[in-house]
Amino acid sequence: LRANFSVIQKETGFVNGLITVLHDITEQEKIDMERREFVANVSHELRTPLTTMRSYLEALADGAWKDESIAPNFLEVTQNETERMIRLVNDLLQLSKMDSKDYRLTKEWINFVDFYNRIIDRFELTKDESISFNRLLLDYACFVEIDEDKLTQVLDNIISNAIKYSPEGGVITFKMEEKGGLVIVSVSDEGVGIPKENIDQIFERFYRVDKARTRKLGGTGLGLAIAKEMVEAHGGEIWATSIEGKGTTVSFSLPYVQTEEDDWA
Ligand code: ADP
Repeated sequence: LRANFSVIQKETGFVNGLITVLHDITEQEKIDMERREFVANVSHELRTPLTTMRSYLEALADGAWKDESIAPNFLEVTQNETERMIRLVNDLLQLSKMDSKDYRLTKEWINFVDFYNRIIDRFELTKDESISFNRLLLDYACFVEIDEDKLTQVLDNIISNAIKYSPEGGVITFKMEEKGGLVIVSVSDEGVGIPKENIDQIFERFYRVDKARTRKLGGTGLGLAIAKEMVEAHGGEIWATSIEGKGTTVSFSLPYVQTEEDDWA
């Protein structure tokens, strides 16, 4: 809380009034601090791939391009770094779109069971053979009003993390339940897990449990922050539970009103 004191003084020189304006500036200060932190984070995230690329390109220009045993590898590094920057800029654009006032969802009624299955099918085609999938979805149609593109991105981000952090031979379990006017969707893995004290922070922009490792895995640190905003825009919530060394479950809820259509489907 900060106080602004205005002294009201008449021409006579006597002080005969005092206006105290007390206003809560903590909220504004918090926003300013977060903004500064965000800009610092973005700059850092872009500088890292750029400096890596600069040194590899310098080495190539200095003659490494002639050496067939190293040039392809150096070029691959610069390509990967470029890809990472593109991912980062795309994620940033996505976040800034959501921050803008005219952000709108294009909602449609869809059967979430089919929708969820289609997304899992897509990952099933490209996943590593050593990871297996287990589906525990509802056995009846369940219609929810959602923006398909946005929820596809939410699930893409959650599932790609589950795959990224899964050990060889790990099982990923996809679940869907209906509980008290909500549909609860979850993805569980048997990966490294997340320490209890960091579990809520994973939804913050740029937060990573293990910075070095997740950068190597190609993450931007924005995936779950985007997922959170999108789920909340649908009136739902997102959360995670985890046991270190055992695995992680990321879940989200969506409002659900049972209709007759569901019973018929
Ligand atoms: P990133 O692009 O780094 O994956 P996210 O926002 O998607 O960014 O995730 C934030 C952080 O949360 C990750 O860097 C990782 O440390 C942690 N995390 C997310 N999902 C999992 C998971 N399934 N298992 C373990 N750690 C996870």
